[in-house]
Amino acid sequence: MEPSEELAYVIGVALGDGYAYRRRRAIKGYRDVVVGLKARDREFVEEFARCLAKVLGRRQIRPRYVKSSGRYVVEAESKTLYELLKKPVDLERLKKYIEHCERCMAAFLRGFADSEGSVNKRGYIFILNTDQRLLTYIMDLLRRFNIESTGPRIHVRRGTIINDPERGKKYSRNKDEYYIYIRTSSNINFLQIHRLHNY
Ligand SMILES: [Zn+2]
Repeated sequence: MEPSEELAYVIGVALGDGYAYRRRRAIKGYRDVVVGLKARDREFVEEFARCLAKVLGRRQIRPRYVKSSGRYVVEAESKTLYELLKKPVDLERLKKYIEHCERCMAAFLRGFADSEGSVNKRGYIFILNTDQRLLTYIMDLLRRFNIESTGPRIHVRRGTIINDPERGKKYSRNKDEYYIYIRTSSNINFLQIHRLHNY
Protein backbone atom coordinates (compact mmCIF):
# COMPACT_ATOMS: atom_id res chain seq x y z
CA MET A 1 0.00 0.00 0.00
CA GLU A 2 1.27 3.44 -0.97
CA PRO A 3 0.40 6.42 1.21
CA SER A 4 -2.25 8.67 -0.33
CA GLU A 5 -5.02 11.01 0.75
CA GLU A 6 -7.57 8.39 -0.31
CA LEU A 7 -5.95 5.69 1.81
CA ALA A 8 -5.78 8.09 4.76
CA TYR A 9 -9.50 8.83 4.36
CA VAL A 10 -10.32 5.09 4.20
CA ILE A 11 -8.29 4.53 7.39
CA GLY A 12 -10.12 7.37 9.15
CA VAL A 13 -13.48 5.88 8.25
CA ALA A 14 -12.35 2.36 9.13
CA LEU A 15 -11.45 3.49 12.65
CA GLY A 16 -15.03 4.68 12.98
CA ASP A 17 -18.11 3.32 11.24
CA GLY A 18 -16.25 1.27 8.68
CA TYR A 19 -15.66 -2.43 8.99
CA ALA A 20 -13.23 -5.10 7.88
CA TYR A 21 -14.14 -8.71 8.33
CA ARG A 22 -13.40 -12.20 7.20
CA ARG A 23 -16.36 -14.19 5.93
CA ARG A 24 -16.86 -17.44 7.74
CA ARG A 25 -16.72 -19.46 4.59
CA ALA A 26 -14.17 -18.69 1.92
CA ILE A 27 -15.87 -18.72 -1.44
CA LYS A 28 -12.66 -18.84 -3.38
CA GLY A 29 -9.16 -17.55 -2.96
CA TYR A 30 -8.87 -14.05 -1.52
CA ARG A 31 -12.54 -13.29 -1.87
CA ASP A 32 -13.21 -14.02 1.75
CA VAL A 33 -12.20 -10.68 3.23
CA VAL A 34 -14.35 -7.60 3.01
CA VAL A 35 -13.80 -3.93 3.79
CA GLY A 36 -16.88 -1.76 3.84
CA LEU A 37 -19.11 0.93 5.19
CA LYS A 38 -22.82 1.09 5.88
CA ALA A 39 -24.36 4.48 6.65
CA ARG A 40 -27.40 6.69 6.10
CA ASP A 41 -25.49 9.59 4.60
CA ARG A 42 -25.23 8.98 0.87
CA GLU A 43 -22.47 11.53 0.24
CA PHE A 44 -20.38 9.98 2.98
CA VAL A 45 -20.71 6.47 1.54
CA GLU A 46 -20.02 7.76 -1.98
CA GLU A 47 -16.85 9.50 -0.81
CA PHE A 48 -15.70 6.33 0.92
CA ALA A 49 -16.45 4.35 -2.26
CA ARG A 50 -14.46 6.80 -4.38
CA CYS A 51 -11.45 6.58 -2.06
CA LEU A 52 -11.72 2.80 -1.80
CA ALA A 53 -11.72 2.46 -5.60
CA LYS A 54 -8.67 4.73 -5.92
CA VAL A 55 -6.75 2.81 -3.24
CA LEU A 56 -7.54 -0.55 -4.85
CA GLY A 57 -6.85 0.69 -8.38
CA ARG A 58 -10.38 -0.01 -9.52
CA ARG A 59 -12.32 2.16 -11.91
CA GLN A 60 -15.39 2.43 -9.74
CA ILE A 61 -17.04 0.80 -6.76
CA ARG A 62 -20.75 1.50 -6.56
CA PRO A 63 -22.57 1.82 -3.26
CA ARG A 64 -25.98 0.20 -3.06
CA TYR A 65 -29.04 1.29 -1.15
CA VAL A 66 -30.55 -1.16 1.32
CA LYS A 67 -34.17 -0.18 1.60
CA SER A 68 -34.95 -2.27 4.68
CA SER A 69 -32.34 -0.47 6.79
CA GLY A 70 -32.41 2.87 4.96
CA ARG A 71 -28.65 2.73 4.57
CA TYR A 72 -26.14 2.90 1.77
CA VAL A 73 -23.58 0.14 1.66
CA VAL A 74 -20.27 -0.12 -0.10
CA GLU A 75 -17.99 -3.11 0.13
CA ALA A 76 -14.83 -4.31 -1.55
CA GLU A 77 -12.72 -7.41 -1.28
CA SER A 78 -9.11 -6.83 -0.43
CA LYS A 79 -6.84 -8.94 1.70
CA THR A 80 -4.23 -6.18 1.94
CA LEU A 81 -6.71 -3.61 3.21
CA TYR A 82 -8.32 -6.13 5.51
CA GLU A 83 -4.96 -6.92 7.10
CA LEU A 84 -4.37 -3.21 7.63
CA LEU A 85 -7.82 -2.31 8.94
CA LYS A 86 -9.07 -5.32 10.88
CA LYS A 87 -10.02 -4.56 14.48
CA PRO A 88 -8.46 -4.05 16.91
CA VAL A 89 -6.42 -1.82 14.63
CA ASP A 90 -2.69 -1.48 15.05
CA LEU A 91 -2.42 2.31 15.30
CA GLU A 92 1.38 2.27 15.24
CA ARG A 93 1.32 0.48 11.91
CA LEU A 94 -1.17 2.97 10.48
CA LYS A 95 0.74 6.08 11.48
CA LYS A 96 3.07 6.06 8.47
CA TYR A 97 0.01 6.39 6.22
CA ILE A 98 -1.86 8.85 8.44
CA GLU A 99 1.11 11.14 9.08
CA HIS A 100 2.65 10.83 5.61
CA CYS A 101 2.09 14.54 4.92
CA GLU A 102 -0.27 17.35 5.88
CA ARG A 103 -2.80 16.40 3.19
CA CYS A 104 -2.89 12.78 4.37
CA MET A 105 -3.36 13.90 7.98
CA ALA A 106 -6.24 16.16 6.96
CA ALA A 107 -7.82 13.38 4.89
CA PHE A 108 -7.54 10.98 7.81
CA LEU A 109 -9.17 13.47 10.19
CA ARG A 110 -11.89 14.12 7.62
CA GLY A 111 -12.63 10.40 7.32
CA PHE A 112 -12.72 9.96 11.08
CA ALA A 113 -14.94 13.01 11.61
CA ASP A 114 -17.27 12.05 8.75
CA SER A 115 -17.70 8.81 10.63
CA GLU A 116 -17.67 9.86 14.27
CA GLY A 117 -18.21 13.61 14.25
CA SER A 118 -21.42 15.34 15.10
CA VAL A 119 -22.71 18.78 15.86
CA ASN A 120 -25.33 19.47 18.49
CA LYS A 121 -28.12 22.03 18.50
CA ARG A 122 -25.97 24.59 20.24
CA GLY A 123 -23.34 24.36 17.53
CA TYR A 124 -20.80 22.37 19.51
CA ILE A 125 -18.80 19.93 17.42
CA PHE A 126 -17.90 16.69 19.10
CA ILE A 127 -16.34 13.36 18.15
CA LEU A 128 -17.42 10.13 19.77
CA ASN A 129 -15.56 6.83 19.95
CA THR A 130 -15.08 3.92 22.32
CA ASP A 131 -11.28 4.08 22.07
CA GLN A 132 -9.93 6.67 24.49
CA ARG A 133 -6.35 6.26 23.28
CA LEU A 134 -7.42 6.83 19.70
CA LEU A 135 -9.26 10.02 20.66
CA THR A 136 -6.14 11.29 22.42
CA TYR A 137 -4.21 10.68 19.21
CA ILE A 138 -6.91 12.52 17.22
CA MET A 139 -6.52 15.49 19.59
CA ASP A 140 -2.77 15.55 18.91
CA LEU A 141 -3.36 15.57 15.16
CA LEU A 142 -6.01 18.30 15.44
CA ARG A 143 -3.54 20.45 17.35
CA ARG A 144 -1.22 20.33 14.34
CA PHE A 145 -3.95 22.15 12.40
CA ASN A 146 -4.41 24.68 15.23
CA ILE A 147 -7.61 23.00 16.28
CA GLU A 148 -8.00 22.90 20.04
CA SER A 149 -10.20 20.27 21.62
CA THR A 150 -11.03 19.07 25.11
CA GLY A 151 -11.40 15.58 26.47
CA PRO A 152 -11.60 12.68 26.09
CA ARG A 153 -14.47 12.54 28.54
CA ILE A 154 -16.72 9.62 29.21
CA HIS A 155 -20.04 9.71 27.40
CA VAL A 156 -21.84 6.49 28.27
CA ARG A 157 -20.77 4.20 31.02
CA ARG A 158 -20.52 0.53 30.31
CA GLY A 159 -23.76 -1.25 31.15
CA THR A 160 -25.92 1.85 30.73
CA ILE A 161 -29.30 0.94 29.32
CA ILE A 162 -29.83 2.61 25.98
CA ASN A 163 -33.21 3.08 24.38
CA ASP A 164 -32.96 2.41 20.66
CA PRO A 165 -36.12 3.77 19.04
CA GLU A 166 -34.93 2.61 15.63
CA ARG A 167 -35.04 -1.02 16.66
CA GLY A 168 -37.75 -0.45 19.22
CA LYS A 169 -35.83 -2.08 22.02
CA LYS A 170 -33.50 -1.41 24.87
CA TYR A 171 -30.03 -2.79 25.12
CA SER A 172 -27.05 -2.54 27.38
CA ARG A 173 -23.85 -0.98 26.06
CA ASN A 174 -20.89 -3.24 26.52
CA LYS A 175 -18.24 -0.56 26.06
CA ASP A 176 -17.58 2.86 27.46
CA GLU A 177 -17.86 5.67 24.98
CA TYR A 178 -15.76 8.81 25.04
CA TYR A 179 -16.04 12.17 23.39
CA ILE A 180 -13.90 15.15 22.61
CA TYR A 181 -15.24 18.64 22.04
CA ILE A 182 -13.80 21.00 19.48
CA ARG A 183 -13.33 24.37 21.16
CA THR A 184 -15.72 26.83 19.54
CA SER A 185 -12.82 29.17 18.81
CA SER A 186 -11.43 26.37 16.59
CA ASN A 187 -14.68 25.60 14.77
CA ILE A 188 -13.69 27.52 11.67
CA ASN A 189 -10.33 25.76 11.44
CA PHE A 190 -12.06 22.46 11.94
CA LEU A 191 -14.68 23.05 9.26
CA GLN A 192 -11.93 23.87 6.80
CA ILE A 193 -10.72 20.30 6.88
CA HIS A 194 -13.98 18.55 7.63
CA ARG A 195 -17.31 17.97 6.12
CA LEU A 196 -19.53 16.94 8.98
CA HIS A 197 -22.42 14.76 8.11
CA ASN A 198 -25.78 15.48 9.61
CA TYR A 199 -27.43 13.26 12.14
ZN1 LIG B 1 0.59 12.14 2.08
